[in-house]
Amino acid sequence: MIVDVQSKILPGVTHWQSPNFYAYYPSNSSVAGFLGEMLSAAINMVGFSWITSPAATELEMIVLDWLGKLLKLPQEFLSPGNCSGHGGGVIQGTASEAVLVVLLAARDKTLRRVGKSALGKLVVYGSDQTHSALQKACQIGGVHPENCRLLKTDSSTNYALPPEIVSEAISHDISIGLIPFFLCGTVGTTSSATVDPLYSLGKIAKSNDMWFHVDAAYAGSACICPEYRKYLDGVEEADSFNMNAHKWFLTNFDCSTLWVKDRNALIQSLSTNPEFLKNKASQANLVVDYKDWQIPLGRRFRSLKLWMVLRLYGVENLQHYLRNHIELAKYFEECVGQDSRFELCVPTLQVVAPRLFALVCFRLLPPVGDNEVCRSNKLNQVLLEAVNSTGKLFISHTALSGMYTLRFAVGAPLTERRHIAAAWKVLQDEASTLLGTPLQ
Ligand code: PLP
Repeated sequence: MIVDVQSKILPGVTHWQSPNFYAYYPSNSSVAGFLGEMLSAAINMVGFSWITSPAATELEMIVLDWLGKLLKLPQEFLSPGNCSGHGGGVIQGTASEAVLVVLLAARDKTLRRVGKSALGKLVVYGSDQTHSALQKACQIGGVHPENCRLLKTDSSTNYALPPEIVSEAISHDISIGLIPFFLCGTVGTTSSATVDPLYSLGKIAKSNDMWFHVDAAYAGSACICPEYRKYLDGVEEADSFNMNAHKWFLTNFDCSTLWVKDRNALIQSLSTNPEFLKNKASQANLVVDYKDWQIPLGRRFRSLKLWMVLRLYGVENLQHYLRNHIELAKYFEECVGQDSRFELCVPTLQVVAPRLFALVCFRLLPPVGDNEVCRSNKLNQVLLEAVNSTGKLFISHTALSGMYTLRFAVGAPLTERRHIAAAWKVLQDEASTLLGTPLQ
């Protein structure tokens, strides 16, 4: 068996835990996360209702309240406990599921108000930088394909969604008889980790009776550091908020945390009550049954690993962990900035995308005098392929304003400064080969 794993499996594995992995966004593993997964696998319960394993439901509520408090989410997102309120947190498998369930809750809430026959008139808003999970949620949720508005952003707002554009689009849609119902803002977009203006977007959503969701799948983690919490300012205007603990929070995949202010909206959309699941605690409405907050019935004991991460590492170590990656990204950014063959800036367009967290977006400049976009895009594509073909590091790309842009996301737990230096050397060497001009 071991021989087969080594010869047949591992050669085909992309090593996301390698210190030289800088592609996409990270997917952290840790001793605590791994132990939590092991314990969960050993217990192997299926906690869809409270009664099917009370500890699983109760730990999930407790741990999400802990994390919610760490993120300084408004009280309305936390479990009501002895206070009034209808909020609470739940662990979904992925951010895509989180976005889907809140979109379904918002859709049904709106349809209860305007009538079921209005489904074809419902409109969703995000930006062209919003993760494609929103589009998928619209597809599944029966939103008419033409009613998913991905509003255009550009470098003038660093690819953040301008509130005026959202207001205009909503007013126009209302004027032609459509019904805006869902707005998604992002903290840490997938292409360039930009942050949408949450407060203004939230106000727009509120004044139009819309559900406002904030997707902080990647960058939410950093907001446990006081100096990064400002990026969540305005989350108090949101109806729901998600963050992937399985990205940059040392919690093994999968663990996507979602908080809502109105759990009843989720439950009204997603609950079923078949005879074979009935029990006294549920019937008396004394407990949380997470089956009604998610798509599947069955669910894993995911809170164990998040509990272990929080307990074993503690807040200060987690903050240090995140800050260290951000410092390493800063170091990489300095390296790029010192080599005039590369750009963090597009001369006419300001910055490719400013670094806010631990993602650096950059490009190799074409030879002097060649400003043709196609050729410069091809150059960067060839550079990415050449760098990744060395097997020494792995980076990915995106497109910003039609420009093929390289992404360097620091976030693997084992990455140190020496790895960044080595990665930068590979990038420089491959650039020299491509341009035919060795670094002076
Ligand atoms: N939202 C954002 C901002 C992301 O960056 C990602 C993935 O990178 C997602 C959503 C989708 O995450 P998941 O794979 O958990 O569905």
